[in-house]
Amino acid sequence: MKGFSQRALRVPPSEIRRMFAMQERMEDVVSFALGEPDFDTPEHVTQAIVDSYGRRETHYTPNRGLKPLRAAIAAEYRNRGLDYNENEILIAPGAVGALNLVSMLLLQEGDEVIIPDPCWSNYIGLVAQTGADAVPVKVRAENHFMFDLEELAAAVTDRTKAILINSPSNPTGGVLDRTTIQGVAELAMEKDLYVISDEIYRELLWDGTKYTSIASIPGMKERTILIDGFSKTFAMTGIRLGYLAASEGMTDRMNTLLENVFSCINEPIQWGGVAALEGGREAVEEMKETYRKRRRRIVDGLNAIHGISCMEPAGAFYVFPDIRKSGLSSMDFAMSLLQEEHVVVIPGSGFGAGGEGFVRISYAVDMETIDEGLRRIRRFMKNRR
Ligand code: PLP
Repeated sequence: MKGFSQRALRVPPSEIRRMFAMQERMEDVVSFALGEPDFDTPEHVTQAIVDSYGRRETHYTPNRGLKPLRAAIAAEYRNRGLDYNENEILIAPGAVGALNLVSMLLLQEGDEVIIPDPCWSNYIGLVAQTGADAVPVKVRAENHFMFDLEELAAAVTDRTKAILINSPSNPTGGVLDRTTIQGVAELAMEKDLYVISDEIYRELLWDGTKYTSIASIPGMKERTILIDGFSKTFAMTGIRLGYLAASEGMTDRMNTLLENVFSCINEPIQWGGVAALEGGREAVEEMKETYRKRRRRIVDGLNAIHGISCMEPAGAFYVFPDIRKSGLSSMDFAMSLLQEEHVVVIPGSGFGAGGEGFVRISYAVDMETIDEGLRRIRRFMKNRR
């Protein structure tokens, strides 16, 4: 039989899914594996979806997405000081779907895309499947997981097409400060680069951390694509609703492309998106408050364990503790912890070479899970001494 395409073969399997599959074969597991809110989707959102099915809204919608949803998203951008009209928004099947469209629009063989290292592993596959090359630039714990702007500039070549940023970050919880955002923007303008900014965790900010969207820097809108979605803020991962915002020249072209990718999004879930944005925010605020408490517990708990040091993450619902003092690689640490204590964490090396020496723990789990996980990690570390 003839082989698969080179592009298909370039995509590496996800470490997160691999760990998840292993835990499924075990009992008495404490899992910190998945970056998925453990809360129910807010009631008014699911109700809006059910109501739409009740109205028999089960047909194609415009490719770009329902106008009321795009209008609600544009209004939200305006509230944040970002000027996008309805035609500059495209609705997609999750942020993943939006990222796919952007990669189709911009990337091809011979191009390079700068990505943070470590980063959400999907970016590596996403770039690989276009034939382009991902160029990792380290983001280090000692710099609060932000780019060093000199290193970033040094990574730009004649082939660089775009810089991909993700703030707040999966897996580190790091948030790019204004100076770094300004620096990335200046570099992009000087070298004529696009910036793909995945802002899906932008609502999850801790300890008064301020958020700057790179699209707010003068001159950046026309070279920026903002990626966003409902999965994290509204606990809607399985509903698969995301979007992107970019200048009209870009969204028009992506609108043509998406006909062959997903054509349009299921109408009821788009009404769910409208309800999420226009309805009350109590459920979201409650979730945030709960994450805040869990974050406190897990950071303090990890730092109390001999040999583990955990930075305070500024955003998202991940901690990325330093496990180097265990004497194990991040892969060996994760595997031994799974085997000995049935605790699932993701090895930092699964997010790029820069993640070596760290593991990712998602605290989108209840307090009992956090406490039991900490107890087992403490015992695991004690057995290493
Ligand atoms: N972007 C980042 C940084 C993520 O961590 C994730 C999910 O883990 C996504 C995007 C996926 O979002 P969606 O469910 O909207 O596809």
